Amino acid sequence: MTAIKKINLEIVTPYAILFNEAVDMVIMPARDGELGILPGHAVMMAAITSGELRIKRGDDWRLLAVSSGYAEIAQDMAIVIVNAAEWGDEIDVPRAEYAQDRAEKRMTAANTPAMERVHARHALERAKARLKVAEHYANSQKGHHP
Ligand code: ATP
Repeated sequence: MTAIKKINLEIVTPYAILFNEAVDMVIMPARDGELGILPGHAVMMAAITSGELRIKRGDDWRLLAVSSGYAEIAQDMAIVIVNAAEWGDEIDVPRAEYAQDRAEKRMTAANTPAMERVHARHALERAKARLKVAEHYANSQKGHHP
């Protein structure tokens, strides 16, 4: 049997197919922590949370901020379906900082209803993921590894 050497990675949002290429490795932000997928991985489904998704091709890493969704993984492919996703160079940092600030205020205000507090926590997680990816992307442009 020939060994599986690549993963065909597809990343989809409700608006676009963002990525559809063969890669060497992908690291996803999953509910139970970071999930590293190499070729030959066991078939599984995973809940994706807001965070940083890292794609490795050769010596090259690409960083993507993702919000919640799910992933379907098999030995030679992975499909990631998320509500929103942005590459490191697409992230509007002031917008994410503003979203972070607004969500923190909503979470801590005494008169915020419980349901809105939950929405604010999710918005905060999205904003933090975007800021983290933007920072790692900026560092990688300076020659630091992500
Ligand atoms: P905001 O309150 O700033 O809209 P949000 O977390 O509510 O943030 P989402 O609902 O997750 O935004 O995303 C809506 C759309 O805006 C998506 O297409 C997403 O890719 C894009 N988007 C959100 N924030 C940013 C950002 N800081 N930089 C670039 N694109 C963003």
